[in-house]
Order: sequence, then C-alpha cells, then structure tokens
Amino acid sequence: MPDSKRNSPAGIDAGLLAALMDKVSEFGSTGDGGLDRPALTDNHKAARDWFAAEMRARGYTVLVDAIGNLFGRIDLAGPDAPVVMIGSHLDSQPLGGRFDGAYGVIAGLAAVETFRREAVEPRCNYIIADWMNEEGARFQPSLLGSSVFTGAVPLDWALERRDRDGKSVAEELRRTGYAGSDAAPRPDLYLEVHIEGDDKMEKAGARIAPFLRHWGALKIRIEVTGEQNHTGPTPMQDRKDAVLGAAYIIAFVRELADTAADTLYSSVARLDVSPNSPNIVPGKAVLFAELRSPEPAMLEWSEARLRAALPALAARASVTAEIVAVDRRPAGRFDPRLVALSEAVADDFGYPRIRLDTIAGHDAVAVNAILPAIVVAVPSVGGVIHRNDEYTSPEDLAAGGDVLVEMIRRIDRSGGDLNLATETP
Ligand SMILES: [Zn+2]
Repeated sequence: MPDSKRNSPAGIDAGLLAALMDKVSEFGSTGDGGLDRPALTDNHKAARDWFAAEMRARGYTVLVDAIGNLFGRIDLAGPDAPVVMIGSHLDSQPLGGRFDGAYGVIAGLAAVETFRREAVEPRCNYIIADWMNEEGARFQPSLLGSSVFTGAVPLDWALERRDRDGKSVAEELRRTGYAGSDAAPRPDLYLEVHIEGDDKMEKAGARIAPFLRHWGALKIRIEVTGEQNHTGPTPMQDRKDAVLGAAYIIAFVRELADTAADTLYSSVARLDVSPNSPNIVPGKAVLFAELRSPEPAMLEWSEARLRAALPALAARASVTAEIVAVDRRPAGRFDPRLVALSEAVADDFGYPRIRLDTIAGHDAVAVNAILPAIVVAVPSVGGVIHRNDEYTSPEDLAAGGDVLVEMIRRIDRSGGDLNLATETP
C-alpha cells in the first residue's frame, strides 16, 4: 500500500543488524545454531572483546565498571544533554541460544548507528550497555551487573559470588580483563529489546509486545518442628508429626493462590524431611514456598496471610512452624510512557502488537527500580529459549530494531522528555 508506506517511519539498518548478529553468534557457537557463553568464560570474553573493539572503531568511548558492566558511550549533543541507555547482555546459558540477550545489545548499537547517520541536531547522548552476568547460570544470582548498577546488590558481595568450581566473580573479572575502574554512567532512561521466550506472541500473530509489568516473587523458607518418634507404638494423640504440619501449610499456600483477589501463583516445590525414614514420625520438615504476582499488593497480602495462619496450621499437627528466610524480588510496572511510545511506534510501522508481562527477570527489571525503563519483545519461534534451537526470524529482529530506532528518534526530538515524546509523533 503506497499510502501506508509513505507514512511509515524509516526502519533500522537491517543489513547492519543482521551482520552484527551473525558476527556475535560466532563467539561460543556450538555449531548447531546455539551457543555456549556463560558469564566470564573465554567465549564470553571473546564476544565482549569483539564488541568493545567494534564500538571503539565506530567512535564510542568504552567504559567498564567495577562489576564488569561494559558500556559504549557516544556523545552527540554535548556534555549536559540527557543520556539514553540501550542494552541487554552478551552472556548466555550453557548450551543456550544466540538471541537471548545478544539481540538487545546488538540492536542497541545498530539502532544508534542508524540514528546517528540521519540525525541533524541530536539532543541526547547514547550509551550501549552489556550487563555482566544477566543469566545467573554460572554465578548466582542473575541480573548481577545491573543490580550492582542500581545499588540493589552491594558490589563487594557480588564480587565474592563463586561458581561451582570455587572461582569468584572478582577473580574471573580480572582473568578476562573486565575488572574495570570506570564510574558507571548515569543515564536518564533505559530501553531494551529482547526475544519473548514464550509463544504468546506467535499464537496471537503479534510482532511487537511491550512488557507492562514484571512479576515479583517471595521465596519463603518455613521450618516445621515436631518430635521424632517410632511410627508404630507412638499413640496417635501423642504424635508431633512435622510432615503433617507441613502438609497443612502446603495446602494453605495453594489456597492463597485460589482465593487471591488478583493473579497469584504459588508453590511448595521442595520439602526437606528429617530424618526421612518410613518408620519414624518426622521431627523436622523444611518447606520452600514461592509466591509470584505482578501486583505488589498480592505479595504483601499473601505473606501477611501466611504469617497469620502459620501458628494455627502448625497447632493442628501439634508442631511449631517458623519462617526462617524470605527472599524478595519486587513486582513493578515499566514506565507507562515508554509502553505508550512503543505501541504508537509499532502502529506506525503497521506491526501487530500485544501487551505482555514478564515473569522472568531481565536487566530492565533491575534498572526499572531507578530509571524509566522498558522491554520490547519480538516473537520466539515455538516459544523456545535457553536452547540451541531458540530462533527469531531476521524480519522480526528487524521489526524490533525498527521500533527501537523510531523510539530513539522521538525521544531525541523531545530532548529526552518522555511526556513530550509520547504526545508528539
Ligand atoms: Zn536475556
């Protein structure tokens, strides 16, 4: 249609995007479409060395901070201009796919390169980010580099994380040449494109999907204490069976999901029983409960309900129960202006779109705690992720790149003012 074509904005340099994707996919290639590039391995170092050299050759200033986040900065608008950061991660799962993470980093560079060529009087500066250890495969937890960046995780603690061979993040940063000393840049907003890693887009025929919310999680460890006894002679009324107490708690954790006013997922997927013998009334049981929701209020509600119910649930089995540890990943909402902007841009390209939430972590989830941030997803064929046959077509990769470069144009034109960028195409 000539009309819609005339109105459609210019796309990303798809040739550059494809060439850079091909190149980055060589590092750690397993020869079967996948790649093996866990954080701070030789393969990861090779990919980062190439990417840093590529950015330098294009005129970017390369920075590495103390947790090994790699940044390429290009100043187009003078020292006081707003700073737009775009990125993702070059590390992969062991025997992972070649699109998860790498796409967001490469598309960021290709988008800024596309924009630079055409920009007349740019009003923002740009940074491409490759976050260290997004995957959490070799070093736990995941989102390590981006979480240190936001201050959610202390640097010293992050540097002490060890892989299963006992090697620390600090040692491996030094070995690979990424124990940096540059101050991390302070951008004004953050954009990330990423493969969906699920098949909702494919099923809906969508090519673009902004994430609206990221789910939060509570990982709660509960210790149930009873009394160890023989399962034969001990009279029923005298038994203090820790597993029976655990069973009441497990059923209650499920009931929380079934009675919640909004979406709540819950599970108890691990139970450590002591002494775990068929003819001993168990004296101890440790439950690993998880509660997940896109709404912070649901996590608060479920935790409060669980805490309030525990004594009575335990008393039903004549045992005691105590919460001994709680890990919290906060739920949140990506910047609604960036969501609206991505949707307006997708519509202008004529790309069918849907809205998604993400249950999985992304660097943008970490960054969203301190900056306006968004993830824009492109479809994954068959919903496959973290495997060699993870795949997104070059056309869909380019579609995500088109949306990214046009978002950059509108943000730049508005001088980094997201209210203005959303209002004026
Ligand atoms: Zn990823």
